[in-house]
Amino acid sequence: MYLNMINDELKRIYGEKVYRIALNGGMTCPNRDGKIDTRGCIFCSAGGSGDFAEDYRCDITTQIESGKLRIQSKAPKCKKFIAYFQAYTNTYASTDYLRKIFTEAIQHPDVVILSIATRPDCLPPEVLDLLEELNQIKPVWVELGMQTVKEDSAQFIRRGYCLDVYDQAVQALKERDIKVITHIILGLPGETKEDMYASIRHVASQHVYGVKLQLLHILEHTDLADYYRAHPFPVFTLEDYIETVAHCVELLPRDITIHRLTGDGPKKILIEPKWSGNKRMVLNTMHKYLREHEVEQGKWE
Ligand code: SF4
Repeated sequence: MYLNMINDELKRIYGEKVYRIALNGGMTCPNRDGKIDTRGCIFCSAGGSGDFAEDYRCDITTQIESGKLRIQSKAPKCKKFIAYFQAYTNTYASTDYLRKIFTEAIQHPDVVILSIATRPDCLPPEVLDLLEELNQIKPVWVELGMQTVKEDSAQFIRRGYCLDVYDQAVQALKERDIKVITHIILGLPGETKEDMYASIRHVASQHVYGVKLQLLHILEHTDLADYYRAHPFPVFTLEDYIETVAHCVELLPRDITIHRLTGDGPKKILIEPKWSGNKRMVLNTMHKYLREHEVEQGKWE
């Protein structure tokens, strides 16, 4: 079995496990504030897909310290962290404000990487310049929610930008030596396995730095939940999901790091797939399958 998992890479580079602290920069999103749409992506929760992030009312250092304490209560020896701006669109603000919060995060002595989740249509040249500058201090990752290459699906989820915009953002970031991590959702209604593999092939062809595979979660208080109740659609079984993930892994070139194989939604508001609420069981079953079937990342390279 061969998987290029990010935790292994970070352990090699930093000599120990590096933990993510999910931060909230207090921004919103053009897909929610009316610039593009007011409804947001169909699956987006009230927390802007950052339901585990720290409290936006606190300054960044306080958020980092609070995240550290929470992680260290379970893993007392951890000393190195990724400052992960997760909630909403984290470059949707003035460059001055972004400089202030990102600099505060990257200069924290225990932070080794700055990771910023954003939309590809929110990366104007002045923000790219800022990220390039910060990337000289410590590594900067930019996480982009491409989700799918299928145009119908992109419209259904109300992604709000076309694939070209994503492709151009990847190119612009790579030219500045900034690492790109692409999010893909598996299990969107109406998508076949081939559609999902087409999304994987697209990111594989771009040789982005990393990929996050995310099982589609149907969460309460989202438009997707309303849609699901009105038009029930098949959701993955655990077995089928694991087989699909295994094939996705085989399609990914070996140099792409895998940052996530499933993802976990907040249990209290998870409607389907219910099995995904037991993250430990899911990961154990998945890794057992990948081992037993000798799944090799980059099998088709
Ligand atoms: S881009 Fe992100 S924050 Fe904005 S609506 Fe979509 S999932 Fe939510």
